[in-house]
Amino acid sequence: MHDFRYAALPSHVVFGAGVIGTLADELDRLGLGRLVVVSTAGQRAAARSIGRWIGARCAGYFAGAAMHTPVDVTRHALARIAPLDADGLIAFGGGSAIGLSKAIALRTGLPQIAIPTTYTGSEMTPILGETENGLKTTQSAAIIQPGTVLYDPDLTMDLPVSVSGVSGLNAMAHAVEALYARNGNPITSLMAAEGVRVLARALPVIATTPGDRQARSDALYGAWLCGVCLGTVGMALHHKICHALGGTFGLPHAQTHAVMLPHVLAYNAPAAPDAMAALAAALGDADPARALFEIGRTVGAPAGLRALGMAESDIDRALALVLANPYWNPRPLERGALRAMLARAWAGSPPASE
Ligand code: NAD
Repeated sequence: MHDFRYAALPSHVVFGAGVIGTLADELDRLGLGRLVVVSTAGQRAAARSIGRWIGARCAGYFAGAAMHTPVDVTRHALARIAPLDADGLIAFGGGSAIGLSKAIALRTGLPQIAIPTTYTGSEMTPILGETENGLKTTQSAAIIQPGTVLYDPDLTMDLPVSVSGVSGLNAMAHAVEALYARNGNPITSLMAAEGVRVLARALPVIATTPGDRQARSDALYGAWLCGVCLGTVGMALHHKICHALGGTFGLPHAQTHAVMLPHVLAYNAPAAPDAMAALAAALGDADPARALFEIGRTVGAPAGLRALGMAESDIDRALALVLANPYWNPRPLERGALRAMLARAWAGSPPASE
């Protein structure tokens, strides 16, 4: 066993079908009485159902959360909720709603309860990525992490297949990078391997049978595990590339993760033999990068960055962004090999190691 350091993140997790019905009990436990519910516009109606569970303790709603947490949206939300005299936030939705809640908490100190309805895992991290002037910057602080998380698979039953698969692959990316993290540890690696294992089995079932309750529950469990991985150890090249592509070219977050993951894993494979062995076991496939690429096809993820609207002429700009301020990575960043990898990812070709 290697030497390691492990710091558990403080969060109270309630998991199970129907746990939304315990929301009022959680508010009692926390002593909260005036909550603002934050969501995307697309989930405005679903977020309103929160009022049914907490009655007069709902102080209001803000349904303007957007992908990549634009700072101007946060300013608008702060202005809207200031007169509501809130004592807490409820983030209802995927990473966009949770991101806005985190951004508001960072600026107000309000406690947060997250109710995730996708599989991206943001609710388990003290990390906030915000976008301003075409750049995405990330910071980490204890106040950013939601203190309470209610995982209710019933709330994910209507998550479209197109979002389910890519947000699950986004979660798997946290686990994959956790397995070769510089500050990795055995507990996080156990969670990472289990997260990959359950998501690899659940996502294809959801793609063909979106109403499968067991698969929905398993996927949300996997999302929790992978979210913990993201919160507890450092991420590497894959997350750096996805931040650059999302923040600068406006590519959709989860879809970009789904496209890039097999390619970055293939790039890192020669430098991460232990992670590859753990992934091979979790995926039941001797070629984990290829297996992740195939899962992407099975769940209907876009094949390449081209399909997401990125221009081929932007590959070099993306490469420059990745090389300019790199994260630690198990394999050194080699310009030529990275350029070839980005070109393959852009075209939607299968992953290849060079
Ligand atoms: P999202 O939150 O933008 O949701 C995608 C779409 O699905 C939205 O239109 C939303 O309204 C809809 N939706 C969500 N749940 C639904 C449901 N149950 N039924 C029907 N529709 C539903 O997408 P996401 O992939 O969950 O989150 C992406 C964002 O999360 C990005 O901004 C990313 O940066 C952030 N993120 C942050 C972290 C972190 O730790 N800081 C981790 C992962 C992702």
